Amino acid sequence: MSNEISSAIWTRIRGRLRDEFGEAAFKSWLNPLSLLEIDDGVVRISVPTRFLRDWVVTHYGERIQSLWSKEDASVTGLDVVVLPTAAKAAQPAAQAAVRPLPAQAAAPCEPVNVNEDIGAPLDPRYTFDNFVVGKPNEFAYAAARRVAESDVVSFNPLFLYGGVGLGKTHLMHAVAWHIRERNPRRSVIYLSAEKFMYRFVRALRFQDTMAFKEQFRSVDVLMIDDVQFIGGKDSTQEEFFHTFNSLVDQGRQIIISADKSPSDLQGMEERLRSRLGCGLVADIHATSYELRLGIIGSKAEQMGVHVPVKVAEFLAHKITSNVRELEGALNRVVAHAQLVGRDITLESTQEVLHDLLRANDRRITIEEIQKKVAEHFNIRVADMHSARRARQVARPRQVAMYLSKQLTSRSLPEIGRKFGGRDHTTVMHAVKKIEELRNGDTSFAEDIELLRRMLES
Ligand code: ADP
Ligand code: MG
Repeated sequence: MSNEISSAIWTRIRGRLRDEFGEAAFKSWLNPLSLLEIDDGVVRISVPTRFLRDWVVTHYGERIQSLWSKEDASVTGLDVVVLPTAAKAAQPAAQAAVRPLPAQAAAPCEPVNVNEDIGAPLDPRYTFDNFVVGKPNEFAYAAARRVAESDVVSFNPLFLYGGVGLGKTHLMHAVAWHIRERNPRRSVIYLSAEKFMYRFVRALRFQDTMAFKEQFRSVDVLMIDDVQFIGGKDSTQEEFFHTFNSLVDQGRQIIISADKSPSDLQGMEERLRSRLGCGLVADIHATSYELRLGIIGSKAEQMGVHVPVKVAEFLAHKITSNVRELEGALNRVVAHAQLVGRDITLESTQEVLHDLLRANDRRITIEEIQKKVAEHFNIRVADMHSARRARQVARPRQVAMYLSKQLTSRSLPEIGRKFGGRDHTTVMHAVKKIEELRNGDTSFAEDIELLRRMLES
């Protein structure tokens, strides 16, 4: 068969592939393919990278071969070989039975958002429009918006942190949606740290870490959710660190979320921690009453139901843990009303939610106290456990011990253990000391009172 005929067949097949798999997939995966030769019934196609080869073989191999066989019955096999672009250019033309068509030679790989295969799907409800902004989250919101709206990297990484159910994932998805809408050609990948880890471990097992790395090479914006899960997994951290650095070096945007600030992430290597914290760190605080009220209003509107003000206020007052639980509570109340065909009332709400409300009559934990107090005095939570004796950490630590004694039913030794394994006499001393200070210093007393109220609210 002449070269011309083979080239013509290849062109037709490429057209078919483009129609079948769509423009985006074609551009990313199929356009870089070049026809090399046909040898003894085997069509040999070259791709520039190994990752691309694996991808093409598993996803399109069968189809390409069957299209060839239909055009030319003597073709019985397909061979996809890796030929780096440079090497291919240097190859003497005579060696290839079929010269690649100029248009397809060394076509650059242009990924167009087919990266859902690597990342996780986005929740269509998690958009900026559906995100209610209030004091506790306005900074994180503004930072996320900024990243979504700008084409240059302004801070890298954007590190979002906050407790569970406060909207971290929502904000990340919102950034991704926004970027995709503005510029569908930018490739945005969102995935959980767990998924990242899983993929890496699998790559290790198949001795294919090169392919793993290449997956992330062409990404414009990489988002990794719940990065605290990487803590303690050394080899994953190592890989993450390298992926992270190479993307940053290439000027790609990275967005990370975690349940703690970079400095409080446990089991993280120091260099990774400091790297994570060197962009913009934005925390989402626990919800305020006003924000909860706003969220209820917004969700009710989305669902198209009328929620009486009294009920909204009641929910905002009682369900304080996080937005996810608040949403769940509202959904239950609405579902119940629709099921029995009656309006939502304060009574029905209390009845439907009685188990939840009891759980939310909450018990304060020592961890919460440590976190709140650390935040209040602007020290690291880790310093609650550390051996540092400097006044600026020792005093807040004593305050936290004192509040733990006041607000929980834990014993002195139990409290001591939670503070880096300190002795119960240390706790006793702290309690005495803070009581003394309270009595002698009104502004200090007010501070403590404020903390107590915050913890109890
Ligand atoms: P996180 O990732 O921080 O654990 P999520 O982003 O999953 O929390 O949020 C939990 C739920 O609460 C989601 O359904 C999300 O849409 C909703 N949510 C959180 N914050 C807000 C907000 N400010 N406005 C509207 N919905 C919110
Ligand atoms: Mg989340």
